[in-house]
Amino acid sequence: MSSTKKVRVRFAPSPTGGLHLGGVRTVLYNYLFAKHHGGDFILRIEDTDQNRYMPGAEDYIFNCLKWTGLEPDESPVHGGAFGPYRQSERKPLYRQYAEQLVKNGNAYYAFDTPEELEKMRANFKTEQNPSPQYDHTIRSAMRNSLTLPANEVEKLLAENVRHVIRIKMPENETVCFTDMIRGEVSFNTSVVDDKVLLKADGMPTYHLAVVVDDYLMQISHAFRGEEWLPSAPVHILLWKYLFGADAMPQWAHLPLILGPNGKLSKRDGAKYGFPVFAMNWTNPATGELTEGFKEKGFLPEAFINLLAVLGWNDGSEQEIFTKPELIEKFSIERVHSGGAKFDYEKAKWFNHEWIKKLQASDYQLQVKELLENKGIAVTDQAQFIPVLDLVKERCILLPDFVEQAGFFFKAPEKYDLDAIKPKWNESKQSFFVALIRSFELSNTWNAHDLETGFKEMAAARQIKPGELLLPLRIMLVGGKFGPGVFQIAELLGKEETVTRIKYLLTLL
Ligand code: GLU
Repeated sequence: MSSTKKVRVRFAPSPTGGLHLGGVRTVLYNYLFAKHHGGDFILRIEDTDQNRYMPGAEDYIFNCLKWTGLEPDESPVHGGAFGPYRQSERKPLYRQYAEQLVKNGNAYYAFDTPEELEKMRANFKTEQNPSPQYDHTIRSAMRNSLTLPANEVEKLLAENVRHVIRIKMPENETVCFTDMIRGEVSFNTSVVDDKVLLKADGMPTYHLAVVVDDYLMQISHAFRGEEWLPSAPVHILLWKYLFGADAMPQWAHLPLILGPNGKLSKRDGAKYGFPVFAMNWTNPATGELTEGFKEKGFLPEAFINLLAVLGWNDGSEQEIFTKPELIEKFSIERVHSGGAKFDYEKAKWFNHEWIKKLQASDYQLQVKELLENKGIAVTDQAQFIPVLDLVKERCILLPDFVEQAGFFFKAPEKYDLDAIKPKWNESKQSFFVALIRSFELSNTWNAHDLETGFKEMAAARQIKPGELLLPLRIMLVGGKFGPGVFQIAELLGKEETVTRIKYLLTLL
């Protein structure tokens, strides 16, 4: 790649299902690299395999990018000068490249019927080679433009007989390239089969389309999951044959994200109870729902932070990064070549850090919705943000706010009376009666004064304040949790505090 080429990277998902952690991390690394270099981030939909197309997957991908804030500069939705960005809409432009390869001797027409292919697999099957591939050892025994006489090939083409175009993999060549993460990578071509490039219906396969589109869209760097590494020799050769090796983008194959037992899978999520998709994904074919990070209560800031450091660091001990910091510090060379282990507890730690770090006003709408879904209406908007700020330390995931903040806006439905009753007595009862009176008469209402008054009253009655604090907490909160009890009383306000104490006294 010439150094003057503008940085243009792409994320090229096939709309075959939900976007999982690894997919979003590929988006993120593309995005960060593009923004770091002042380049463009392109999203291209690779939908040439119509059999695997899943309705809803494309919308889902765009919604995920919106939620994470990793929006592309160009895409089927965002437009751009290199469109269309959906491969199915580009169908007519691929054939000429496949024909060019045939003309130059790098590809050939293959007329084998499905039955003939089946027969080939049966005939060539051996113990060492249980699933024989259409490759340089077999192609000479098949019906293709390498084995048939030229006039017959012409006739078959003229009659529009169903055929595909296959790459003619060299027999024993070494294909090398420099991967930005792995360094020198090389393959022997003899182990790679003659992949189909153009299908019988005229649709390209992924292999042809990815190379042609990366070329036409002027992609400078191609970052993708390491599951594509075995396909790299095919792509490198296609680049060489069609556009010249100098035009080729720089490659980086991103390592897998590992679950507790190897590659992170949807099944790991189900088994260990953590989300693997960015957002809830319902498989339209089966109706099966897989939980997502968004619905679980992750903040997008935390989500991209935890993904960024899943396989990358900036060389320091820093773990919490804002998006602008990531853009500034990201470099693809610092992505580790080994797989990164996903740890859900650590993921939650990141979310907790971000809940504390952000202003409560940044996520108040999400929290309000969670409260409303539990029948808790936030009637006092002026108190809402102070309440969230007071309890956010205790919230790891957004739904934790329901327990930690809900009692401010709705009196508890249940009270842990068992925690009070065994030690309850006359003197405590009369203390709280007096406390109500003093609260009612006080003309200030803040945590500090409430605490001072409370302690003075306890001292005057020779009761240890510790004996009284737990009952007070349960009167206000319902259970043994929450921030400082006088801070709670301050935010609840005089009237509500008194009402709750009075109510509990009737139960004791
Ligand atoms: N369409 C491929 C996928 O679904 C893209 C691979 C690539 O980026 O080259 O992952």
